[in-house]
Amino acid sequence: MKNPILYSTMTWLEFVDYVKQKPCALLPIGSEEQHGPHMPMSTDSIMAQYFAEEISKQTGILVLPRISYSTLFSLRRFPGTLYVEEETFVQQLLDLAKALSSHGIDYVYLILGHHGAMNSCKSAERKLVAQNSKLRFFVLAFPGIKEAIQEHCTSKRWIKDLFHAEEVETSMLLAVRPDLVHMDKAVCEYPEINPFYGNVSGYWNETCKSGVFGDATVASAEKGQKIINAVLKQSVRLIIDHQASLVK
Ligand SMILES: [Zn+2]
Repeated sequence: MKNPILYSTMTWLEFVDYVKQKPCALLPIGSEEQHGPHMPMSTDSIMAQYFAEEISKQTGILVLPRISYSTLFSLRRFPGTLYVEEETFVQQLLDLAKALSSHGIDYVYLILGHHGAMNSCKSAERKLVAQNSKLRFFVLAFPGIKEAIQEHCTSKRWIKDLFHAEEVETSMLLAVRPDLVHMDKAVCEYPEINPFYGNVSGYWNETCKSGVFGDATVASAEKGQKIINAVLKQSVRLIIDHQASLVK
């Protein structure tokens, strides 16, 4: 297996050579938020970095330094959770786009490890389209995960398609960094759901004690690896197909 191509270890001359070959890059987007009593704050950042590096190994695309401070709402009142406001986050993406574009990058694949940044990433992506920017974003938020969860997981989701610190996310981190997961502290909690969820927003610490939304106790590295493989396969396929569509 090849090594990932990392911006952080390159010289500027190597960067110039790289851009001549491939005018595109991967930008991992994580978050710094509570992940239950058994997983670290940086879980999403670790996963975003992992996905980006694995995609880089298979596509030869450069991994940019990740954005770890990102936008989030529902979890912001859990002690320790860090975030920036949506405007700041979107502006940072747009500023980065400007700098990268000036150095010859035309496409940046946003590799999300944090689903809560999805809307803000889409918002930045649309702004670039509206500005007719030469550089464009391509948003990848766990492609293929829905089907993989249905196939490999046994617990029910707290809310449809949502996963946080429960079977899905715990399994993924167990596959990547088992040393950071304390399964002896994993719990099962299904907090009460606001009957107007989707219509109104709220802070989840008001109903959830542990920070786990579902069942973390049934997680396993094996399930996690299967989910990761599905997401990676779909991500790589989308990027390769997209790159091919650009040269037509
Ligand atoms: Zn997470």
